[in-house]
Amino acid sequence: MSDCLFCRITRKEIPAQIVFESDLALAFKDINPQAPTHILIIPKKHLTGLSVADPEDAPVLGEIQIIAKNLAEQMNLTTGYRLVLNNGRGAGQSVDHLHYHLLGGRRMTWPPG
Ligand code: AMP
Ligand code: ZN
Repeated sequence: MSDCLFCRITRKEIPAQIVFESDLALAFKDINPQAPTHILIIPKKHLTGLSVADPEDAPVLGEIQIIAKNLAEQMNLTTGYRLVLNNGRGAGQSVDHLHYHLLGGRRMTWPPG
């Protein structure tokens, strides 16, 4: 059993503001939001990052994009939203459990920092 932060949130050992849950995935509010809407969407399975995902993980990775779309609709992100995955320290990953950031509610710039 992993003692990683997001595994503990998945097991409800650490509180989080959960906005969606399925058999394979969990979505909860980011504790340090970078936009008016900032949700993290994770597979319940512990994967340290996208770089260790296997073809067998494709169902949950696909489901996460549908969850993001549905949450964006529910949260009225009508002018646009961004779905971000940071893989590795060089890309800004700080929690070693694969997660996507759903960001919206403000104007986004490109390229990202
Ligand atoms: P990353 O830097 O891409 O690894 O993103 C990790 C994210 O997890 C950051 O945006 C943090 O604010 C967020 N975070 C860290 N601890 C918690 C927590 N206990 N509950 C919710 N979000 C968290
Ligand atoms: Zn984990």
